[in-house]
Amino acid sequence: MAKDLDWSNLGFGYVKTDYRYVSYYKDGAWDNGQLITDDTITLSECACVFQYAQTCFEGLKAYTTIDGRIVTFRPDLNGERMENSARRLSMPVFPKERFVEGITEVVKANKDFVPPYGSGASLYIRPFMMGTNAVIGVKPATEYQWRVFTTPVGPYFKGGAKPITIRVSDFDRAAPKGTGHVKAGLNYAMSLYAITDAHQQGFDENMYLDAATRTHVEETGGANFIFITKDGTLVTPKSETILPSITRRSLLYVAEHYLNMKVEERPVPFEEVADFAEAGLCGTAAVISPVGKINDHGREICIPSGMDKMGPVLQELYDTLTGIQMGRIDAPEGWIHEIK
Ligand SMILES: *Cc1c(COP(=O)(O)O)cnc(C)c1O
Repeated sequence: MAKDLDWSNLGFGYVKTDYRYVSYYKDGAWDNGQLITDDTITLSECACVFQYAQTCFEGLKAYTTIDGRIVTFRPDLNGERMENSARRLSMPVFPKERFVEGITEVVKANKDFVPPYGSGASLYIRPFMMGTNAVIGVKPATEYQWRVFTTPVGPYFKGGAKPITIRVSDFDRAAPKGTGHVKAGLNYAMSLYAITDAHQQGFDENMYLDAATRTHVEETGGANFIFITKDGTLVTPKSETILPSITRRSLLYVAEHYLNMKVEERPVPFEEVADFAEAGLCGTAAVISPVGKINDHGREICIPSGMDKMGPVLQELYDTLTGIQMGRIDAPEGWIHEIK
């Protein structure tokens, strides 16, 4: 029986669900993994995750489609990205096939927490892994846990997506060079000061430029940029140092194959931003979040689509991708993973 939660008034906070999943790595191998009910973890004070931040994560959603199926969106890509994050942090790879099995088991076990179609809410899925044994000399752990928990989250926008104001940040997004593509707490830890400072200055988000030259657009703390030119082309930054967003990759495909738009993935000089007709942030949480204004050290760049609502092209992209996700529009082969 579905839980009696006020789905459309849920926020984005942690709500404990009944089950989680854990697989242990020891002596060079992962065990078979299992569902558990305990939501706490007890580890050595000297665990590698605490001392040297050896941990990474993923984020995706389960939701109910228009015809009542519980599905996730392209989870194989999250599994693949987590393999890459693990490699860069010298952690053993948890195979992407097992990733998909693991999240499937947890969602199935917590299916009463999956919000109904039309509520705008979803069951957020958080896979993560960490080095668990005591390590004081700097080296990778030899024991690990790969885990998944879920938490129901409310609609990202209540009453329509309002464009936000962002500022060009003097801080860099990622920790050391070459870790921008790693989805991990280390990059988020480095962004906490910058986002707190942005909020104090009255901005919703930071636009990070490339750390080496500060001339090209990278991303925000947790979402990639997409832009629409005045002639209707979708432009998105190409960079080795941004997180490869699955939402972005999906939007590029939708733009090209569903909406017959021209798409360009290429370096985007910051100076070009003032010429775009629409700007948005994309990621699993909001799909697309419109940007209305960009503040570059006091110089305001107002995006022509304005501060009232999402621009028309981004809105069409948003409607098409969410239509595919919710089962209202036919999905490309392999995009929708049914939990049954
Ligand atoms: C997760 C994340 C994104 C968005 O990726 P999606 O796969 O679309 O959710 C973008 N940037 C950063 C830094 C991220 O961690």
